[in-house]
Amino acid sequence: MNLPDDILIVGLGMTGVATARFLSQMGKKITIVDEKPEQDLFASLKALEDIRFIGHFGSHRREDFLDHPLIIISPGVDSDLPLLKEAREKGIKVIGEMELASRFIVEPIIAITGTNGKTTVTTIIGEMFKKAFGNIFVGGNIGDPLINYVLKGAKARALIAEVSSFQLETIETFRPQTSILLNITEDHLDRYRSFSEYKDAKYRIFENQQQEDYAILNKNLPDTDGIQAKRLFFSSKDEIKEGSFYQDGLMIVRLQGQEYRYERDASPLIGVHNTENLLVALLVAHIHGIEKDCIEEALKEFKGLPHRIEAVRRIDNILFFNDSKATNVDSTKRALESVEGNVVLIAGGKDKGGSYRALESQMKKVRALILIGDAKERIKAELGKYSETHLESDLSSAVKRALQIAKDGDVVLFSPMCSSFDMFKSYKDRGNQFKAMVESL
Ligand code: ADP
Repeated sequence: MNLPDDILIVGLGMTGVATARFLSQMGKKITIVDEKPEQDLFASLKALEDIRFIGHFGSHRREDFLDHPLIIISPGVDSDLPLLKEAREKGIKVIGEMELASRFIVEPIIAITGTNGKTTVTTIIGEMFKKAFGNIFVGGNIGDPLINYVLKGAKARALIAEVSSFQLETIETFRPQTSILLNITEDHLDRYRSFSEYKDAKYRIFENQQQEDYAILNKNLPDTDGIQAKRLFFSSKDEIKEGSFYQDGLMIVRLQGQEYRYERDASPLIGVHNTENLLVALLVAHIHGIEKDCIEEALKEFKGLPHRIEAVRRIDNILFFNDSKATNVDSTKRALESVEGNVVLIAGGKDKGGSYRALESQMKKVRALILIGDAKERIKAELGKYSETHLESDLSSAVKRALQIAKDGDVVLFSPMCSSFDMFKSYKDRGNQFKAMVESL
């Protein structure tokens, strides 16, 4: 693959570091820019101590964006940045790190996108593949960027990659052997101009696939025209001819005239959304010829990831769940569907501009709504009429309030529907603080 000799990297996080190391190994002249000031980039700069590059940090300089024939951006960088637009208009190529990496990868890539469930599905598929083949790379938008795989010269049987809509905006040739679109619901309206723009970005996961590849889609999703790959569907409600579906306690895979059946109870994960996640993993495993006993073992052993409807503690007969990873309204709706009993719901955080009304159908389960953060007034305005509502100044007072209100047999669910950056470093930080507060009650 031919790359120009002079390349600009935008973003110096973990991905930017790996990209720089890789390009340096190829003998390229590298310039790196990041909007953060140098003192905030200490760890990344330390990791690049032994390589040569030009670095410009703090506010972006126009000339950096217009002086290089190729720009590579990290997943966190907005590809609509005015300077990137201007560069494109000048004929400069702008691609993402995932596009770059995929040009050097010959092994099959299984790519997973969707509004919710990406990390969960990526991890379960990874567990199944590890049992069957041992040598597997799991990464992408979570953990290890794909460029790290290329950098290390690793040789895995397959790569299981979580892919965000942002990463899909900057692909050109990225062609997974199996592409999965889990679901599309409202999110990131702070970044996309419209829902349809967000949706279009997600469908790009299929854009370079060929007839011998596989496209796996949620049966609920609209128009699938223009996909070249073999289409397979999954559904938690409807019977499917070719794909996977749920019926009477069983998860059933139908593929090339064969049928495989799994007990839904074999997995400890709760909720219809997780049934969907499991249906996808089962289908992918069978496409790739994994034996039933490996699949069953992985199903039984995978207990879910932290911060996703994670049971924390029972106090008297009140069960506390941490769902800090719920950063949009659909994930909170799914959490409400999944738990049994009346719910005291703690929500709120940084508002992304979408509507919270999608929760209306689940509000009859909600005994009380306890709201925190930037979004509390907006959530109250849209959902307050359905239950007793309290506004609290911080998470700690919200947790205490929840314990006062909850009755025997209730669930206290922390499922924010919003991102965490108004009051916390990340969803992990937010979830860990919640757990610590519950433990200290
Ligand atoms: P992502 O990586 O796409 O953010 P996660 O697996 O980290 O997905 O889950 C994020 C949130 O969405 C959690 O609150 C989780 O319970 C919920 N969730 C997981 N799978 C699904 C799904 N298939 N549909 C809707 N919500 C889901």
